[in-house]
Amino acid sequence: MSIAELLEEVRASIPLREARLLLCHVIGVSHAVLEAHPEGKVSPQDAASFRALVARRAAGEPVAYLIGHREFYGLDFQVTPAVLIPREETELLVDIAVEQPAQRILDLGTGSGCLAIAVAKQLPQARVTAVDASAAALAVAQANAARHAVSVRFLLGDWFAPVEGERFDLILANPPYVAEADPHLSQGDVRFEPRSALAAGSEGLDDIRRIVAGAGAHLVPGGRLYFEHGYDQARAVAALLDAAGFVSIAQRRDLAGILRVTGGTRP
Ligand code: GLN
Repeated sequence: MSIAELLEEVRASIPLREARLLLCHVIGVSHAVLEAHPEGKVSPQDAASFRALVARRAAGEPVAYLIGHREFYGLDFQVTPAVLIPREETELLVDIAVEQPAQRILDLGTGSGCLAIAVAKQLPQARVTAVDASAAALAVAQANAARHAVSVRFLLGDWFAPVEGERFDLILANPPYVAEADPHLSQGDVRFEPRSALAAGSEGLDDIRRIVAGAGAHLVPGGRLYFEHGYDQARAVAALLDAAGFVSIAQRRDLAGILRVTGGTRP
């Protein structure tokens, strides 16, 4: 069968853009090659593998898990169901790190490592530490750091526990922030992602509260904390930072215009 025939065959099951990604993955060619050679022949084995992936995608599994990777900040990251799939809005945190470079940087809840690794790539002189409570996630993050040839210190543990007694110039986090009862958790791709990377108590603020509470003791004076949060949490998280004594509280909008990242400075 040809590439064009296979893509046509699955047209009613999944979007063409996703079918192309799955087919590139199965036959091991780039998007450009797939586009340029619609007449290219696909072996019966590859066609069968492709159809199996299309069926899984049609049943809801995220494309990034099926093909095992996702782009973030211009870099390709390995992803498995042990980690949250990198999202575009999280790139705001890399921008923040790049705009005002810091020396000692901590990424809390690193998951795939995308944030820590993108920052380390952009700021080669920085010393980047990345923490995660999941050993399976850290294994993925370590593989990604090796692949991008950056040196990041990876530590296993709960939020600040593995960096007891240490201080940083910049702390970044994309913590879980979805309310446990949010119907969003039972829809679409997020159903397949680690619950521990998504949900955080009845208001989605449990982990952000812990991070804000612990950050002061782990920042040098003048050090900054920035984290991602939910679409409706901007006001609450700014209040949390203010109550914890942070100054110069600042917020950033994502590409959809939603206040998505908030941070402040330790006086
Ligand atoms: N933005 C993600 C979502 O709504 C949640 C990511 C997170 O909790 N850090 O699917």
